[in-house]
Amino acid sequence: MMVLKGQLHQHRIQSEASARANPMSSPEPEVNLEDTDRLEGRAALVNNVNAALALAGAVRSTLGPRGSDKMLVGEGGEVVVTNDGVTVLETAKVEHPTANLLISTSSAQDRLARDGTTTTVLLTAELLRNALELTRIGVHPSVIMNGYRIALDEALSQLAEISREAADKSESRAVIATALAGKIDTKLASVLTDMALDAAAALAQEEGGGDLERLRVKRLQVASGKASDSEIVHGLVIRKQRLDFTTPSASDGGVIALVDGGLENRELMLDAEIEVRSLGVLAGFHQRTREKLQTQVDHLASLGVELLCVRDGIADEAHVMLTAAGITVYRRFEREDLERLACLTGAAMVRDVGRMSASDVGEYSSRSEEKIENSWHLRIDGNRGAAMTALLRGTTPTMREEVSRAFDDALGVAHRLSAESSFLPGGGATQIHLARHLRAYAPSQKGREQLAIEGFADALEIIPRALAENAGLDPIDEILELSSAQSKNGPWIGLDVMSGDKTDMASAGIIDPLFVARQALTGATEAAITVLRIDDVLWAQVEPGTPDWNSEESEDEI
Ligand code: ADP
Ligand code: MG
Repeated sequence: MMVLKGQLHQHRIQSEASARANPMSSPEPEVNLEDTDRLEGRAALVNNVNAALALAGAVRSTLGPRGSDKMLVGEGGEVVVTNDGVTVLETAKVEHPTANLLISTSSAQDRLARDGTTTTVLLTAELLRNALELTRIGVHPSVIMNGYRIALDEALSQLAEISREAADKSESRAVIATALAGKIDTKLASVLTDMALDAAAALAQEEGGGDLERLRVKRLQVASGKASDSEIVHGLVIRKQRLDFTTPSASDGGVIALVDGGLENRELMLDAEIEVRSLGVLAGFHQRTREKLQTQVDHLASLGVELLCVRDGIADEAHVMLTAAGITVYRRFEREDLERLACLTGAAMVRDVGRMSASDVGEYSSRSEEKIENSWHLRIDGNRGAAMTALLRGTTPTMREEVSRAFDDALGVAHRLSAESSFLPGGGATQIHLARHLRAYAPSQKGREQLAIEGFADALEIIPRALAENAGLDPIDEILELSSAQSKNGPWIGLDVMSGDKTDMASAGIIDPLFVARQALTGATEAAITVLRIDDVLWAQVEPGTPDWNSEESEDEI
């Protein structure tokens, strides 16, 4: 109860925010139900819905290729210009629990599908808006939750029904181009699409789930050259030079060892309390650590190691020993890079050199040092497994960040497409179809759930509406025309916001992956249900006709 009273105050702020964000919607009238418990329940829902609408209002104008950019200014004055919904949300500072739930839903969408984040937020907010409308006419939240679940199931099976399987690369290209539309110019989008397809093809045979494309592909931003000169290198490129310049800078292959630690004499560094009683003690100590290092170097040499990469440092005394043993050394690797090297070469990351065995070493196929933008980089190739580097170029940090984000989207989609290549019509066509289908389906369901299914159908139309709005078109006209066009020519008719045409989305090349749409619908419905459940708990406390005479007393105790 106490929490809710706090929220009531916040609600006023939020409803002002939402009124500003959605000038079309009328401000929430004061709630005046008789029953206090019920009042608090309703007020909580109103408050939560307004928070969701305010947040959706912040990203609504970024949807689609005609969406506008947002300029985000950080506390330190740093500026990000983006039209990427999830970037806007993750950068924004929000404290409202519902707003945070929406942000985590959109982050989950980003993690699972790498696209569709704005769509998810808009859908969630709209599902909540319609749920609130339904509670106003007396539909219980649990009935709405139930209806939403039924609608979701039906929508998901429709998605599968109308989706098509990508037959060749040109369709994958179109899916990625649709994901990048409006984020970056078309020429650059085409370069990034090629890079993404190239990298995804290399990963297609590898084990290891959705995040593989983040783990195995290193992003290296390069501050020179045109963005369209960005490229994929099948191998690892790391900004680094070898420890000893007398060792060879290049080789056509050899045995590599990876150390997940250092080659240092830790005893001397950590134990500063060696008691020196006679001159010989310190010398003896140095002698012992040298011997220990020599044993480790000899062990590496006996395994045939020619290239050594270590995560931490190398003791000064070891430099000479390693060079004498013909071992080229690179140090201070990021853990992720060492992991990528392990994939590339089949080497294991070993903590203790003394325990390294013959099966722990790997093989690389070539290495060299090259100068990129005035600094030396090590390049290692191998053919045991796939690991790559995306060289992302751009002259300004803002440009490089945008290129990097667009590449992330492209690769995320490309990688997931190789597991599931089905696609759906974009440009609002899928949502218009689902809305039409669900309205026809609703009467087959019992009682008031029908209303919730219709509410779900209405909520879906936020996507074509926002796409049309952002292109300066009249959303009501567009939705009506799309519906009637679909009734004649089927679910693939959508709105091309670049030309304003209502046309077949497959021939226009405006297509979205099935996995993005499926995740967006599921994530949005789950988030909306989570918010409704809070309300349901409060409603459940209401026992009509049995007033709680002790309520004042118990409130004081809380
Ligand atoms: P999200 O964060 O949800 O991915 P986007 O801003 O990337 O948001 O917009 C994605 C939406 O834009 C999808 O519904 C997609 O079908 C649509 N879209 C992409 N290109 C076009 C186009 N040329 N015409 C109409 N809609 C498009
Ligand atoms: Mg997108």
